[in-house]
Amino acid sequence: MHELALMGDIVILVEKDAKQRGIASLTRITLVVGVLSNAMPDALLMAFDMFKAQRNTMLTEDATLKIITEEADAFCPHCQTNYEPTQRIAICPDCSLPGGQLIKGQTFQVESYEGS
Ligand SMILES: [Zn+2]
Repeated sequence: MHELALMGDIVILVEKDAKQRGIASLTRITLVVGVLSNAMPDALLMAFDMFKAQRNTMLTEDATLKIITEEADAFCPHCQTNYEPTQRIAICPDCSLPGGQLIKGQTFQVESYEGS
């Protein structure tokens, strides 16, 4: 489950930033996760709960993880249309040609966090 490692990186990143801002505890982390980012929201939530339970992070006992799902979007240069790709190698459903450019869907980032 690589989401455990991803979540660990996020907690470290957010804690570092929070410390610089004088924040001592974290109550909420919001992530943007693209459907093609290879990270499963359920696994991220599970990993978040594990870090929370360890009690050696800045996460409070009732801290929450909010995941904003980013839908996928691709542009076909052959027929100049947008479509929703189901995988990273985008193949246009209209002309069946590859070479589509992914515009959205691969994002994996911290949108914001809250703490005190
Ligand atoms: Zn096309």
